[in-house]
Amino acid sequence: MPSTPPPSQKRDRPSVPACPKCKQVFVRRVLPKKGWEHLLWHLYLYPFRCQLCTHRFFALRLGQRYRIELDDMREYERLRVTLPVTFTGGPVKGTGVTVDITMKGCWIDCPQRVMVSKGMTIALKIQDSGKGLPIEIESGMVRWALGRGIGVEFLNVKPNHLDRLRALIKTAWEQSQRDDVEVLPSNVTPIKQKVRAQART
Ligand SMILES: [Zn+2]
Repeated sequence: MPSTPPPSQKRDRPSVPACPKCKQVFVRRVLPKKGWEHLLWHLYLYPFRCQLCTHRFFALRLGQRYRIELDDMREYERLRVTLPVTFTGGPVKGTGVTVDITMKGCWIDCPQRVMVSKGMTIALKIQDSGKGLPIEIESGMVRWALGRGIGVEFLNVKPNHLDRLRALIKTAWEQSQRDDVEVLPSNVTPIKQKVRAQART
């Protein structure tokens, strides 16, 4: 059985520039489009996508060569969350748990198979942990319907709910960064080292 690398190894990737629009550093390198963007790639000018304000931009990363990987196909990094969600679309009503999320969509696991089909439009209410009212996605399109799982692309979100969605994603991203740091040193804590040093003197 092939084992997956621990998160600390997965995160070992080159640094990315801050978004010129919102100044955040939750930015993802994305694939160049065919044509002149490929030419720029060879000149170290790479396309990036801000994961919070969704702005796409180019940044010069002189001397940094990126390998194109399968994972690059995604424009948005899916963040793992556990958020209750309800959804409605015509006669269909359902509940489930949002298990990953981006500014553009989410994946929902349902307790049982739900009668939604690809291409159907649904409205979602995602319960942000610790917050009173849910975040409302006015309309989203079902892109995947696999057994008890539904992949939804967000189509329409009111500005105030979009702001709340952005805040939720920023928090989830910061949490994922902290989780990565926590798995690094484990065997000797700095306090133990200090005690040992004191014992020798
Ligand atoms: Zn941005």
